[in-house]
Amino acid sequence: MLTLTCPYCGVQAEETELAPGGEAHLKRIGPAGTAEEFEGYLFARKNIKGVHFERWRHAYGCGKWFLAARDTQTMQVFGTYRAQTPHATDDIVGNARQARPEWVPDWPQASEAVVG
Ligand SMILES: [Zn+2]
Repeated sequence: MLTLTCPYCGVQAEETELAPGGEAHLKRIGPAGTAEEFEGYLFARKNIKGVHFERWRHAYGCGKWFLAARDTQTMQVFGTYRAQTPHATDDIVGNARQARPEWVPDWPQASEAVVG
């Protein structure tokens, strides 16, 4: 059974106490977007075998939405973080890289950021 720690109230909640919300970090398409972009936003999902980021709601607890990083193949949870966070925290990335060294985040890392 999947057990996630709610980053708001700190409770270790079992899967039955949570409501799934699908893939995390989807880029929303505004009114200026094309039909293809909107279709992609609505229907296209990564469906990854490996490191995956998901939305969950602590439905039978504090009721808040949060994000979780886990391995869809092994069910290993790398960590949870607040829904307002743009990307997983460095410690969660480190946990994921330790379990899956071949995995690299698909967002720019602080060490790779262009300064200036
Ligand atoms: Zn909670």
